[in-house]
Formats: sequence, C-alpha cells, structure tokens
Amino acid sequence: MLSALLDLRMRNHRTREHVVAPGPEQNPHQLSLRPAAGLPDRRAAASATFQPDRPPMLSYRHAFHAGNHADVLKHAVLIHLLNYLVQKDKPLWYADTHAGAAIHALDSSAAMKNAEFESGIGRLWSRTDLPVPLGEYLAQVRAVNPGGVLRCYPGSARIAAQMLREKDRLRLFELHSTESRGLQEYFCHAGPRVIVQAGDGFDGLKSLLPPPSRRGLVLIDPSYEDKRDYLRVRDTLRDALQRFATGVYAVWYPVVQRRESHQLPAMLKKLPARNWLHAGLTVKAPSADGYGLHGSGMFVLNPPWTLPGMLRKTLPCLAGVLGQDAHAGYQIESDLS
Ligand code: SAM
Repeated sequence: MLSALLDLRMRNHRTREHVVAPGPEQNPHQLSLRPAAGLPDRRAAASATFQPDRPPMLSYRHAFHAGNHADVLKHAVLIHLLNYLVQKDKPLWYADTHAGAAIHALDSSAAMKNAEFESGIGRLWSRTDLPVPLGEYLAQVRAVNPGGVLRCYPGSARIAAQMLREKDRLRLFELHSTESRGLQEYFCHAGPRVIVQAGDGFDGLKSLLPPPSRRGLVLIDPSYEDKRDYLRVRDTLRDALQRFATGVYAVWYPVVQRRESHQLPAMLKKLPARNWLHAGLTVKAPSADGYGLHGSGMFVLNPPWTLPGMLRKTLPCLAGVLGQDAHAGYQIESDLS
C-alpha cells in the first residue's frame, strides 16, 4: 500500500495538496525492465542550435520518449478532459499546438534507444487493479494494440481522433516537416474533421479562437528544446484567453533542473483565467549531473469540476507504480472559484 504524507491546506477557494515520497510500489505486474537507462530530458535529446534571426533547427523527436512517465500523466489528463467534454451535445473543437506523430511503434530504433516506455506505459499495461481514470487511459492505448500485446503507443492527436465524435473538429499543428508530413498522411482520409497544419502552433492557435461552437479544448505540449517555449506558452495563453476566455487549456511541462521549468507554474497562475489546476508527478530524485527528466506537470486553465477528483484518485497510484526511488511523489494545487 502507498504510504503518503499528506499536507492539505485550504485558503479561500485555493487548495493545495503536496504529497511526497510514497516510494515505488512493488509491482508484480511490471514488465521486466532493462537496467535503468538514463531518461534524457527533452532538451538533452534535442540539443537544438539557435541563431538569433533564424528559425530554430528542430531536432526533438517524440519517438524517443513515447509512452514514458510524462506521456502517461499528460495523456491520462487529456483523456479525462476529452471524456468530460464530449458529454455535451454541442460540437467540440480540439486544437493540438504541438501534435507530434499520430502513433509510435515501440519496437522502432528510436523508441528502443532508451526504452523509456518500459518505465511508463510498460508498468501499467498488464495491471487490472488501477483506478477508473487509469483504466480509461489504458483503454485508449489498448485501442491501438488490438492483439493485446503492447507494440504501439498513440500520440495525443490519435487519442483525440479516436475519442472525438464525427461532429467535433481537430486542428493539429506540427512544425517539424517529417512529423507534419506523417500526420498529414495519417489523417488524409479524415476529411474536414481533421486539419493538419505544418507550422508554428503558438501562432496558428490565434486563427482558431474562438471556435464556432464556443466549445474548445487546447493542448499545448511543446518540446521546450527552445527555452523561449516557456514564455511563449504564457504569452499564447494570455492571448488565447482574450479571444476565448471559456476555453479549456491544458499545458504539459517538464520538471527538469532548469530555472524556466520551475518558474512556469507561477507564471501561469498569474494569467487572468477564472480557474486553474496544477498537477505534478515526480518519479525520481534530480540527477547529480543536472540532466534528465525527473518529473512533469500539467497546468489546466478552466478545468472541469471533475478533474481534481480524478487526479486525487490517479496521482497516488501513478507515484507508486511509476516511482523509481524515494523521491517519487505528486502535487495537486488549484484555484477553483
Ligand atoms: N503532443 C504530442 C503527444 O502527446 O503525443 C507530443 C508532442 S512533442 C512533445 C512536441 C512536438 O512539437 C514535436 O513533434 C516538435 O516537432 C513539435 N514542435 C516544436 N516546436 C513547435 C512549434 N513551435 N509549433 C508546432 N510544433 C512544434
């Protein structure tokens, strides 16, 4: 069983739960893992080169990280948001500013390089005792693995496409030419329901807001290989809230040993959104060499009322199953007025 130190404080409408060190759960269902390969963070894997007046050279490829602990957190939250939002009849517009590939083969040389999926989806795959929201997450991953063996991992675009209805709309942005071509091919028969735009998602979002149905979910999931991404996330959200104040906005960010990563939640709390929720999952201690992704977070503006409950059920389990050492833990804080 998870043992947890719970520190729950309530100030006005603001709540904060911070749980540290539940410790890794002994998981009998865990796939056999190879010796812990370092999890390079997104920046280290990308090592982009920038010149002041040129666009960045994009070398980040999500294929190296597909299905890792950060994808588990991000996609479990995304699936909950989509499940909630499709309950209403009115069409939903889903925008993915950094869509990546639709699907990843886990036996590709990229995915196998550090086999990050083994310490992410691999630890959940065979479990039958997970809380309901994680069961819903697993169902979406199972949908791309009909044989019951974990071979593929869906990207956010594919997850949204399989959960949204015919009347809903997907608008996908991807800047990397190989990824955007792949996405365009993948969705070439989807018709007007799915439009893939090869270009900058921060800029592209402006043209979509407000959506015609006035119901929208935006996923902002940059690679952060350019540290300006942190400020662009904030500025994009500020602009988006002016255009469409009632949209649901979900931002993923890495927890790494970088000032910008630690400052991002504080910056986002200052945005003029009516409500926000911040969830963090730490899987291990920061590494001695200063590199590596030891956790990640999701910051959601205008979250549905069901999200705090979902996270309270899910995060203790994820910290236990995905935790790699005694530093594993989670955090939930919100301002829901
Ligand atoms: N959202 C995907 C998922 O959950 O499966 C993963 C996306 S990956 C973390 C980030 C993607 O953003 C990469 O494919 C990268 O090429 C792309 N990218 C980087 N900068 C971008 C930008 N300014 N606009 C659009 N896409 C960008």
